[in-house]
Amino acid sequence: MHIGIDLGGTKIEVLLLDAHGTEQFRQRLPTPQGQYAATLHTIKTLVDAAERVAGGQCSVGVGMPGAISPATGLMKNANSVVLNGKPLHADLSHLLQRAIRMENDANCFALSEATDGAAAGASVVFGVIIGTGTGAGIVVNGQVLGGANAIGGEWGHNPLPWPEMHELPGAACYCGKHGCIETWLSGTGFAAHYRLLHGESVTAAPLVERATHGDERAETALQAYEERMAKSLAHVINILDPNVIVLGGGMSNITRLYQNVPARWGKYVFSDYVTTRLLPPRYGDSSGVRGAAWLGANHPGKNGC
Ligand SMILES: [Zn+2]
Repeated sequence: MHIGIDLGGTKIEVLLLDAHGTEQFRQRLPTPQGQYAATLHTIKTLVDAAERVAGGQCSVGVGMPGAISPATGLMKNANSVVLNGKPLHADLSHLLQRAIRMENDANCFALSEATDGAAAGASVVFGVIIGTGTGAGIVVNGQVLGGANAIGGEWGHNPLPWPEMHELPGAACYCGKHGCIETWLSGTGFAAHYRLLHGESVTAAPLVERATHGDERAETALQAYEERMAKSLAHVINILDPNVIVLGGGMSNITRLYQNVPARWGKYVFSDYVTTRLLPPRYGDSSGVRGAAWLGANHPGKNGC
């Protein structure tokens, strides 16, 4: 069996999966705020609890925000800033006394959906989490493609492709640039742009509701969003040419995207036809921790208990 840990900013969750992907145990504890050692020990507590259910030692995979720098082995880019600069992988391997695998949470999402989720059976999968930010991961033939700099799939801080004049330079992004894909496609970015145009603070879900009832402003805003998502994903298709793109995060609940975005991306893809499918997630918010567990299933020499 395989243990997955989802290390989040507010909670740490453990999941025990059997070889068929059936959940055997799940528990969550609050993340000790700003305390590195206590965070490590909370993870150990959860692993111990799962192994009591499993009846033996299991593989452990961890999904976390940010990434481990291949150059230094230290954490970087995590929004739980206490983790940044720490040798989390080495410390956790030592504490749990085994080899573990760690991946960015968007990579875990992509792995979960590629293994037994919406994209099961597809050889090249691009998984995108669009919520307050835009994270993404790539899975090829069942393996996460981490990349030389551990940023494989992170296209959210590329600029919006094929921009209209009125979209330039675009909103300032926390990364220091303007007009990043994240500033257009994230839920927060979408709401901020609507507020800029119409002076009203409203999130995507009520706008979808309004558009359904014929509200012209809401419909225009959603169509513009769909066009921007089509451009942004066409960029990915031109480089990676995935079989399936799976959406996760809050914006993945907008069902019209799965029809309207593929209907728009053809004119930007350098091909006379596009077979790439855009799909909603099978496991939704559970995909992060499920993907973490599957990390261990793919670990050479560590096939679970
Ligand atoms: Zn940016």
